[in-house]
Amino acid sequence: MFQSSIGLPDLAAILRQAGDGPLHLFAPSVLSARVAAFQRGFPGQVTFAVKSNPDHEVISALWAAGIAGFDVASPKEIALVRSLCPGAELHYNNPVRSRAEVAAGIAAGVVSWSVDEPGELDKLAGIAPESEIAVRFRLPVAGAAYDFGSKFGAEPDQAAALLARVAAMGMRPALTFHVGTQCRDPKAWMTYMAEAARIAATADVRIRRLNVGGGFPSARDGQPVDLKPYFEAFATGVRAFPVPPVLVCEPGRGLVADAYSYAVRVKSVRPGRVYLTDGIYGGLSEMPSMGVPVFDVLTPNGDIRTGPRQPVTVFGPTCDSLDRLPGLVQLPATLAEGDWIVFRSMGAYVTGVSTHFNGYGVWRTEQVAGIDLKNGPR
Ligand SMILES: *Cc1c(COP(=O)(O)O)cnc(C)c1O
Repeated sequence: MFQSSIGLPDLAAILRQAGDGPLHLFAPSVLSARVAAFQRGFPGQVTFAVKSNPDHEVISALWAAGIAGFDVASPKEIALVRSLCPGAELHYNNPVRSRAEVAAGIAAGVVSWSVDEPGELDKLAGIAPESEIAVRFRLPVAGAAYDFGSKFGAEPDQAAALLARVAAMGMRPALTFHVGTQCRDPKAWMTYMAEAARIAATADVRIRRLNVGGGFPSARDGQPVDLKPYFEAFATGVRAFPVPPVLVCEPGRGLVADAYSYAVRVKSVRPGRVYLTDGIYGGLSEMPSMGVPVFDVLTPNGDIRTGPRQPVTVFGPTCDSLDRLPGLVQLPATLAEGDWIVFRSMGAYVTGVSTHFNGYGVWRTEQVAGIDLKNGPR
């Protein structure tokens, strides 16, 4: 599924030009392979969660590859998608919106809105009558790196009451959920789908569409993800409904993460600690909550550093002591100033989250032919 690896001479040449870095290595071939896998295998409409990577090159590539729907969460994201993909379908799935945000969504022609509470449904009184309203519900289901249910989602009973109200208002009732990000258990989606069927039955409402959210994992733990078991779970899960709804998914991480590696340079090596040219206020912002993904260590010439590793504290470049990677990181004992740490599966929740605190978090992006998720940049 993944195409040719980054040729080492190419990577070495890129790194030699990069100065202090940091540097995103973006493989459009990996992104298009992932899009194709979703489009072939997912039994429904594949949309993209913009917040995971709002880079113009990514949004445009997805649109060109036939992704026609986008999960947007703010007027800025709406404007971004409208500017790059004029005819795209907008799904506004941030369930808490100010009235100004609702107005921006109406003006942009949003076709689907999620809600998780009656007050938020009331705010949508002015939307087009043919609009879809997807009631978002939550369950205590394990399997993801972290749970999204603590912030959004109605309890199943409340969701049934909301769904009945949506139908009574004459809107198109739908249901949606998010299993949590980096979820490695396809059964989590099946549990949610079974509950969705129960909620629709309780409300005595036939839903046309079921949005199964995102949550699909990346290979950040070093294991490339075969999507087949996930797609099979959907085909099975939808049978819980007397009349199967049309399925929609809105992956972020699962579509884009593996298409990027992120190369950060070693600024300084001291006993037991290392300082890098980017940290948690920049492109490594996900690491405190998600852990450190697999990485390779390269010399300035692009050779892989092998040999024994030792645990060290890794700091980012800012003058803030919170700016460190979680725990101790196993780095080669021969690590030296000027080396590169190339983190893999860095295409999601990186470029859109970074700050420029202390003047860091600034990078270049280079396109590469491919990224070998099993063996790294060899
Ligand atoms: C963030 C988000 C997604 C994407 O989640 P991933 O774990 O990156 O796939 C999808 N839907 C909603 C509503 C989200 O908030």
